[in-house]
Amino acid sequence: MTSVTEGAEQPVIRLWRLTKTYGEGEAAVQALRGVTLSVYRGDYVAIMGASGSGKSTLMSIVGCLDVQTTGRYLLDGIDVEMLYEDELSDIRNRKIGFVFQSFNLLPGSSALQNVELPLTYAKVRSGERRARALAALQAVGLDKRASHRPAMMSGGERQRVAVARAIAVDPSLILADEPTGNLDSVATADVLGIFAELNRQGRTIVLITHESDVAQHAKRVVRVRDGQLVEDTRLAPIVGPPPMPGLAGHELASVPR
Ligand code: ADP
Ligand code: MG
Repeated sequence: MTSVTEGAEQPVIRLWRLTKTYGEGEAAVQALRGVTLSVYRGDYVAIMGASGSGKSTLMSIVGCLDVQTTGRYLLDGIDVEMLYEDELSDIRNRKIGFVFQSFNLLPGSSALQNVELPLTYAKVRSGERRARALAALQAVGLDKRASHRPAMMSGGERQRVAVARAIAVDPSLILADEPTGNLDSVATADVLGIFAELNRQGRTIVLITHESDVAQHAKRVVRVRDGQLVEDTRLAPIVGPPPMPGLAGHELASVPR
């Protein structure tokens, strides 16, 4: 990740006429109906749309958790459909950091152990694993709480642990599906502030939300309706910082670290 323009020739995500159909015959649901989209390194994209419009389906395919029915998907130029399952999980683990609405943390494990998990999958040795997990926790302001279990943390803190887990492997892409859906406004501002910082550092972010307040923090807003892209608006250039709407008020409200 030397410069933001370096990777500009090849998109991180390239979707071409992507469709996804669940089920068959009478019961078939066409969740995606021909989505063509490219996302370049350093961009910060908010995907908006009503419930049932296909946002999570899109995210599962982009995140290599599911495959399209027709069309093509290149991740960093790689046609993931052609990969074997072990190659796919390896790519998923190294290139993509996931953040979910429900945090998806292991409740019985400490924050540190949760953040170390993807590094374990990536076969990073224990000493380095610990150091990198602590650095990721520090990046979200929670290094002092490394030994705490998620049950002892607020929703906002849990989501920050989940963000630390997502960035621990230093992925080229962060995918977040309604990451602020379960958070109050202060915790939402906190998580969006962390995403803004991660994007400033050059990380590509795709964030799914149905809240336009949240989408205003991205550089580009893509709207999905009935499985199709119906709008694509750029709010800020790929190179440079993301917009920080309402920054002053949020900064005052955020937890000092
Ligand atoms: P969103 O995230 O925008 O709410 P989804 O991608 O979850 O939308 O869903 C899009 C459509 O696909 C919906 O009609 C939903 O009911 C359907 N769908 C999603 N996942 C499945 C599944 N595993 N099996 C069948 N239908 C599904
Ligand atoms: Mg969804």
